[in-house]
Amino acid sequence: MDGHVGHTFGDGQYFPTQQHRAVFFSPLETDVSMDQCHLAPEFELQPNIPAEYIRCTVGMLPKSANVAAKTGLPIAATITPYPKGAADSVPVIERGIIRCKVCRTYINPYAEVLPGGTRWKCNICGALNDTPEQCAEINTDTHEELRSFVYDFIAPSEYMCRPPQPQTHLFLVDVSQYAMKSGLFGETVETLKSIAREMPDRDGRARFGVVLFDSRVYCVDFAGGLRISIVSDVDGETLLPTAHSVVCNLRINRDEIVSGLGKIQASFQSSTQTESCLGYALKTAVQMLSGSGGKVVCVTSTGANVGAGAATQDRGSLLHSSIGFYKELAMDGLRSHICVDFFVLKTGTVDVRTIGETAHILGGKIFFYQTNSRTMAGQLEKYRQELFESCLEECGLEAVLRVRCSSELVIQNFYGSLFMRTMDLINIPAINHRHSYTVVFKHEKEFKGRKGHIQAAFLFTSSSGERMIRVMNIALGVTDNARAVVEAADDRAVVGAVGCVAADMLGVSGLSEAREYVTKEACRVVEASKSLFGTSKTALQMPSSLGRLLLGIDSLLSISFLDPGMAEDERAHQMFLFPTLSTAEMCRMLFPRLWSFSALLQGDTSCQALRRSTLKTDGVYIMDDLFDIYVFVGENCSEALQESFFSRDQKGAAVGECPRPERFSQLLAQVREETYGVQRVCRAEGVFFKKLVATDHFNWLRGFSKRISK
Ligand SMILES: [Zn+2]
Repeated sequence: MDGHVGHTFGDGQYFPTQQHRAVFFSPLETDVSMDQCHLAPEFELQPNIPAEYIRCTVGMLPKSANVAAKTGLPIAATITPYPKGAADSVPVIERGIIRCKVCRTYINPYAEVLPGGTRWKCNICGALNDTPEQCAEINTDTHEELRSFVYDFIAPSEYMCRPPQPQTHLFLVDVSQYAMKSGLFGETVETLKSIAREMPDRDGRARFGVVLFDSRVYCVDFAGGLRISIVSDVDGETLLPTAHSVVCNLRINRDEIVSGLGKIQASFQSSTQTESCLGYALKTAVQMLSGSGGKVVCVTSTGANVGAGAATQDRGSLLHSSIGFYKELAMDGLRSHICVDFFVLKTGTVDVRTIGETAHILGGKIFFYQTNSRTMAGQLEKYRQELFESCLEECGLEAVLRVRCSSELVIQNFYGSLFMRTMDLINIPAINHRHSYTVVFKHEKEFKGRKGHIQAAFLFTSSSGERMIRVMNIALGVTDNARAVVEAADDRAVVGAVGCVAADMLGVSGLSEAREYVTKEACRVVEASKSLFGTSKTALQMPSSLGRLLLGIDSLLSISFLDPGMAEDERAHQMFLFPTLSTAEMCRMLFPRLWSFSALLQGDTSCQALRRSTLKTDGVYIMDDLFDIYVFVGENCSEALQESFFSRDQKGAAVGECPRPERFSQLLAQVREETYGVQRVCRAEGVFFKKLVATDHFNWLRGFSKRISK
């Protein structure tokens, strides 16, 4: 053991050492809210950037590729420019921007200002820079950039590629029979009315447009007294109506838009059309916005089955040609700074994997609602709220993210909803403030100094037309001691990084390759730890810093997009979603939290173990997995308690979704942390039991243990 206290578990059994028992069991027991990495004091460079902004898999950098290989750990950072609830304290700098003349790094707390304050040494490339002529001297009193690890610049016009464009939303709405029957169209029209009334419009230039589609495309002109022009040649090159007549100024035409939407609803509600030219409609929307850029919000219940980009019945080679269509469409969107968001409430046939590619490349989001007759009402409600909230969110345009790092490291890849322009630069037509981006690094050469640096700069044009730059800086110590690297690792960030690569691999190579990759990565880390910490041959032993790694890997394989039993559309949805999450959100998804309702009523907010044996038949349990709230009502629980959660049909069986009693909502508000979109409250069914990860864990671990000891 060499004095190190770790956790042993072999052949399907846990043998946690007494001293660190709580650490290993914590995801299943109580303290899963502790998502921060806690480094031993000797490893921590004080102070450093809060982990909400940049969270690394390692708390210390391995000195060389050789040392890194000994640890088995990936070197990755998850960057969240706008972590929820943390934005207010960031200083805004309005005077000149000071950057390194060689590598263009923004001056930051790790840059060394030479005595006298007229020269500074760049912490990324080591170049000596003179301070700009307009400031006689730089020091921590006069320059906030030398004190804060995160700061914003308001940039001058040379940081823009063109004058700020008006905020433009073009809604592309399905009017097929599927959308009518499910109620999607009705909800959409009502929500668009609210959006038109309440959408913020800071400079009076915001623009709003609606295009409808079934087997044809209907371009709506609100400003011209509600005229609808129809394009029926969905394969051809018909001249389209221009954006000028479809996308109108919101402030001037607000009343016409709201009343026009009402009339549209009446004229389409008896549609019997089952064909959809979604692909062609998207192409139309992208063409319309090609001059200004902006956001296309596409609402659909079915995929394209006629015209460009139509899917075919045969899922063979023809499907690839339609993926090609959506990728090409994304490239057109990228050139014109257009982002696409999808809201898919599936009632027809739609392939989320195929159409989702467009949103994924263009920085957009995919909202996916799996429905059946029982969940329809709840999903429509969730959809309505999410559409409304997402359109009212602050939207940054023409964004770029540039990541600079010490020359000993190079960027290997970026993961998230983005397009990689070059190895260190990504483009995002419209930013989503909730998105995170994960960067994987590798060694270029051996570190010479004792610190390694990463700087991420996020540039975008705000809704008020200002070019903003958010700069985030982190420094990590460098060591040639592989054990120290492992002891200072952040297991949850490692699971997140492995998950991001797996999601990418799933899209490119398929499920079995992605699962194999994840298992191999886990083996690599475990084997490295075995040889570093000298554990016995049959047992798996992990240092406490990696205590949750295997559980996280297990969750990835059993309850995320790598679960072989998951429906393909849901898998595609999660595959696109996962790399856009922050590490804390990924953790919540992989380690859901479980509370006992009666304990909450008594003021005990601690989480319950994620095991089936936790559930008592006379209890009520609540699970939060970031996206939904599941309620488990034991069969022997009192009639009164059951009725407070579920309504009943005539035969007395519990039906429908939770009516959210007020007390329940209050209790939930107390304990809930990360949420993503609007959380539905639903009855615990199959998927709930699957998320009690500890139950499946032992089987997986037994196989894993054998694989390691080979
Ligand atoms: Zn430099």
